[in-house]
Amino acid sequence: MSFLPFALPDIGEEEIAEVVDALRSGWITSGPKVLQFERDFAACMGGGVEAVALNSATAGLHLALDAMGIGPGDEVITTTHTFTATAQVICHVGARPVIVDIDPETLCIDVAAVEAAITPSTRAIIPMHFGGRAAEMPSLLDVARKHGLQVLEDAAHALPTTSAGQLVGTLGSDATVFSFYANKTMTTGEGGMLVTRNPAIAERARIMRLHGLSRDAFDRYNSEKANWQYEIVAPGHKCNLTDVAAAIGIHQLRKVDAFRNQRARIAAWYDKALADLPLTLAPHALPGDRHAWHLYVIRLQSGARTTRDDVLNGLFRAGIGCSVHYIPLHQHRYWRETHGLTAQMFPHSQQAYERSISLPIYPRMTESDVGRVAAALRALV
Ligand SMILES: *Cc1c(COP(=O)(O)O)cnc(C)c1O
Repeated sequence: MSFLPFALPDIGEEEIAEVVDALRSGWITSGPKVLQFERDFAACMGGGVEAVALNSATAGLHLALDAMGIGPGDEVITTTHTFTATAQVICHVGARPVIVDIDPETLCIDVAAVEAAITPSTRAIIPMHFGGRAAEMPSLLDVARKHGLQVLEDAAHALPTTSAGQLVGTLGSDATVFSFYANKTMTTGEGGMLVTRNPAIAERARIMRLHGLSRDAFDRYNSEKANWQYEIVAPGHKCNLTDVAAAIGIHQLRKVDAFRNQRARIAAWYDKALADLPLTLAPHALPGDRHAWHLYVIRLQSGARTTRDDVLNGLFRAGIGCSVHYIPLHQHRYWRETHGLTAQMFPHSQQAYERSISLPIYPRMTESDVGRVAAALRALV
């Protein structure tokens, strides 16, 4: 039987034609297609946000923290149950990461743990919407307001997710960052988008994404006038998105709701097919909220007669790609040794890690693919 991959991008002829158009246009780096992608993205979000395109979500998180004025001497609180990028960017701006545990039901950052970790040096919180299910944003925003903290959402999994009926990206946080990495809910190969209602954050990110140039390449090259002059106003970075990548994004964005609906269908198939097995199924969104279903994570229940690794290996032997989200920060050498994190500090994340398996979920999967995964799991557990 053929291998069922863990993730697979869904690229159509529209994306291919738009990439060809970029290639033939003579303009392949940041230019008109990036501008259009940013405008389309901001319009899609609504709520008066600006969108700043970058070559990764990691760059977006980094530039957001910089634009929020976070630096040496500051503490930023985030979760251990995430990809390392969420927390590494705190180190990149010279601040101190303060890592807390998750809520065992949602696998998102635990709000009470956040509040307990606040000190006079705390400046910001970075929640991550695990798997595409929104973190507890209303309570997190309350905590932030009460303590005068900024909030940066890692929404790498969360397009299109809603919280209390509002699209992630338009909640009351300072900035939100989406990822268009190859396996995310929409892709540009590599890419990311910083979304904010704060024009100063958007402006600073635009400057810092391109060497700290006072004006964007757009203004410099799109103008009719001879326009060779520029000024460096900060030691910026190089993390602008290319027009070739934006060409893919323009069409992926138009399909993002359809992709999401197909992912939700797959999640419902899994829910039904796995209901009678001794598994904790993927956490759902609160009633009325939209789950982006980037991931479908099952957990072995306590007292299971098998181990996570045996099940994972069995699935691979059955030709099914799967993964573990996440190997928490406290399991990685850098985070253990440099930041003193231990498994004992994060019992909920540790337990989730030991029992979690992420099953394949992507728009091209069929009901019979889901049946195949369910049958393999049934034989293993
Ligand atoms: C994918 C991912 C990122 C990084 O996204 P890039 O676009 O690859 O930089 C950050 N945080 C989380 C939670 C992710 O899953």
